Amino acid sequence: MEGAALLPLFLCQNKCMNNPYKKLSLISLLLALAACAEDAPTEAQSVAESPASQIDLIMLGDYVVSMDSESSVYENGAVAIDDGVILAVGPAKKITDEYSAAETLAGDGRVVMPGLVNGHSHAAMTILRGVADDLALMDWLSNYIFPSEVQFVDSELVRIGTELACWEMIRGGTTTFVDMYYFPDTVAEVVDRCGMRALISSTVIDQRSPDAESAADSIQKGIGFIERWKNKNSRITPIFGPHANYTLNAEQLQATRAAANEHGVGISIHMSESLFELQYSKDKFGATSVEFYESIGFFDGPTIAAHMVWPTEAEIAILAERQVGVIHNPTSNMKIASGISPVAQMLEAGVRVGLGTDGAASNNDLDMWEEMRLAALLQKVDRMDPTVMSASTVLNMATRGGAIAIGLGDTIGSLEAGKRADLIQVAFDDVHHIPTYDVISHLVYVTDEQDVATVVVDGKVLMKDGEMLTIDTARVTVEANALAAKIQAALNERNQ
Ligand SMILES: [Zn+2]
Repeated sequence: MEGAALLPLFLCQNKCMNNPYKKLSLISLLLALAACAEDAPTEAQSVAESPASQIDLIMLGDYVVSMDSESSVYENGAVAIDDGVILAVGPAKKITDEYSAAETLAGDGRVVMPGLVNGHSHAAMTILRGVADDLALMDWLSNYIFPSEVQFVDSELVRIGTELACWEMIRGGTTTFVDMYYFPDTVAEVVDRCGMRALISSTVIDQRSPDAESAADSIQKGIGFIERWKNKNSRITPIFGPHANYTLNAEQLQATRAAANEHGVGISIHMSESLFELQYSKDKFGATSVEFYESIGFFDGPTIAAHMVWPTEAEIAILAERQVGVIHNPTSNMKIASGISPVAQMLEAGVRVGLGTDGAASNNDLDMWEEMRLAALLQKVDRMDPTVMSASTVLNMATRGGAIAIGLGDTIGSLEAGKRADLIQVAFDDVHHIPTYDVISHLVYVTDEQDVATVVVDGKVLMKDGEMLTIDTARVTVEANALAAKIQAALNERNQ
């Protein structure tokens, strides 16, 4: 508005100063100025006459929780969005005076906040949800998950499983996820269609996998995937996903890092997850995981390290210094009994920490609200200190901090002018939100997936008032159940 009001005055000054008479008397100058004043609209006229800027979308809310650096919360707030970008965040009246939107999402009884960032997942494993539970990590991986994957996982399973996962994540308010699975082109095609944002890893593992024969083969295939998807779609970032240091040797891990650096992409990996890994790393490499990775130059490039349950104090310093993005997966760590990650200690040391669900076969859902709640509760009981992890710290890990941890801190994670428009509306009309004294407390300790009403990614509405707009949920349901029936029949046959 200020710009619009100033513009006529600026034109007027030019017009006035273009007087052909070089020497103006005081009187003629005053007369000229008076003429100018007549030409210039009054401020009231200017407001009435200058139409509000036409934009794509306004999202309203009883509260807008921006997660900006000042943790600004606007009561009766709004977010103005155009061409996928946030133009302004502030009081609703100011935004609606300034902008006229093609679509306005009403915000009565709703809280607006950034979309959630799921920093570690294996999306397609929704198809294997519940196939094997209540087992130790290596038993679960070696005797159930890896064999099941080699037998059943193909591009079709990945398509259906990823669609299920995107449906579940959008429904629960997740707008960005970091994925590690097989057939990454298929994952990328699904993400492209459903409208989410994702970092998609091409898995590197030193064993026969559903889409490669060996580590070298998986690196080569990963390079192909990265060349196909780099700079193709601004919502999709292809990366490498070396599995872990117990499924790859030092040379293979170094080769993956070299390929990632050569192609200008990051890496997502499992790191320091279990006591098994700790011992394996000591036996094989003579050092615990983080020190081993540091010793081979693995952190010479963007790294997202999932789990990080067992870092030593010296390793925490390495993670902070090397700006490794650590993803905490409390449910998976509890379910597989991997241990309690020293999240509070890492945050105190300046490590970038985000949150993730891990795959649906070890969680068993993709609910980031549950991860937030468990992240807070686990740290409190572990340290026997209820002050150690506040609701706002946890909310930050699921939004702004998570975005920083996965390397998208400049693009998403908070509601600020210039960032991409990834945001959600959470309905606060369910009984568990009545009454609400503190919105942040409710978002972390009360809200669940079903409270999420509307989801926008890159300015596009993916779910509106609970209705999925980019996924044919009826078709996906039929396909998932049909595929599960085949898997169940084959498992029954194998177990006979
Ligand atoms: Zn994982």
